[in-house]
Amino acid sequence: MQKKGRISVRGIVQGVGFRPFVYARACEFGISGSVKNLGSEVEIYARGERFADFLAAVSRGPPMSRIDSVNVTKTDAGIPDGFVILTSGTGSFSGMIPPDIAICDDCIADIFTPGGRYESYWATSCVNCGPRYSIIREIPYDRERTSMDEFPPCPACAGEYGDPHSRRHHAQTIACRTCGPGLRLMDRVGNDIPGVDPVREAAALLDAGKILAIRGVGGFHLGCIEESSGELKSRLGRIEQPFAVMVRPGFVDQIALVSREERELLESPVHPIVVLEKRDHASHSTISNLHTIGCMLPYTGLHHLLFSHLVHPLLIMTSANMPGYPMITDTEVALTKLAKDADYFLVHNRIIQNRVDDSVVRDGYILRFSRGIAPKRTAIDLGPHCILGVGPELNANATIYKGGFAITSPHVGNVRNPATLAYLQETVAKLQRLLGAQYDAVAHDLHPQFLSTRFAKEIAEERGIGLVPVQH
Ligand SMILES: [Zn+2]
Ligand SMILES: [Zn+2]
Repeated sequence: MQKKGRISVRGIVQGVGFRPFVYARACEFGISGSVKNLGSEVEIYARGERFADFLAAVSRGPPMSRIDSVNVTKTDAGIPDGFVILTSGTGSFSGMIPPDIAICDDCIADIFTPGGRYESYWATSCVNCGPRYSIIREIPYDRERTSMDEFPPCPACAGEYGDPHSRRHHAQTIACRTCGPGLRLMDRVGNDIPGVDPVREAAALLDAGKILAIRGVGGFHLGCIEESSGELKSRLGRIEQPFAVMVRPGFVDQIALVSREERELLESPVHPIVVLEKRDHASHSTISNLHTIGCMLPYTGLHHLLFSHLVHPLLIMTSANMPGYPMITDTEVALTKLAKDADYFLVHNRIIQNRVDDSVVRDGYILRFSRGIAPKRTAIDLGPHCILGVGPELNANATIYKGGFAITSPHVGNVRNPATLAYLQETVAKLQRLLGAQYDAVAHDLHPQFLSTRFAKEIAEERGIGLVPVQH
């Protein structure tokens, strides 16, 4: 029976609490050794009587992981007593960019625990939940390569980060009200509203019918109660467009028919907008004049806190952008561009590195492939090439194929204006940098007039690489 070895686990092993999971199993089975993040691979050195039990447990992985392969090799390395988590090394980062995860039930409970460290803290997260892609600057995913590097952990957070018995052991986004990102409530010209709890006051303003620009995980929403939806539509000049709503948990059944699959989706770690059939087709017509309504559940601590103060059970939460244009992410830009649309601004000071809109699902089909789903890694064998796909014109995403995986970006939008084309170019550049991809071909739509097609041709010419036209 093998008692010692080097274990290599490949797959989605970053941003999912893999290393603390391995550490906990090592403690459970009395294993000495180490675990190290190598990008799309976790390297474990292990020694102990119960090596086989440890290996079996590690091979199952924590809930958010997806394991492609586990390889065990013999090792002559000396393994001292005890188990340690080593700092990330460099390795092959074949597409492991973790997507954002909706706040978990344990963290929601922490927010509403009186006297607790996380009581009423909007950015509470743990190893199982919280922002990921939206805050990543570089991979591997570690705090110093994310927007959280501006918020050094306080001694209490550092203690939990290092505590193998904590749910926040090695949680890269650990933060509390002492050390973490904070909230501000501002009027439409950017003046702080003094002497108020920003969330409580924002909820009161929403209840009173005001329209708020709310900075979320991957960009700004415009939020208001149902009674203000007509006003929001006229401000936006979008009279016919149906809005998505965020609904107090438990209220969704009162407005829509929800199948078991749809409920699972609503409550999944993705927390997408799910397009549901209204109970009464004629109801909520100022939100949507269709027989359907796009619903999502609160997916951050901020949303849960807002709903804990709100009297109204439902908020319109529409992405703060014109249809087909990129979502606004930056507070300064929002103050300029949304000054006519929003009465107040509820913002946080965590940099949004990568824009992510809400994902949209209807009848099991993903209509908008974004927050919580993307970047999406799909195993596919296209040979030794590295290929960039720039997408079509409508609802475009970018994809890079490299080393057996296609990695698809979040939703870019309708690439028919310079702003969205610029966002497509930015997305391609980011994916390329994160993946270290040197593509040797560019796939594009057959339509010669699409801006994405022209973009593909420019890249091909610049780099002297081939084009692959595709009929979408
Ligand atoms: Zn959590
Ligand atoms: Zn702290």
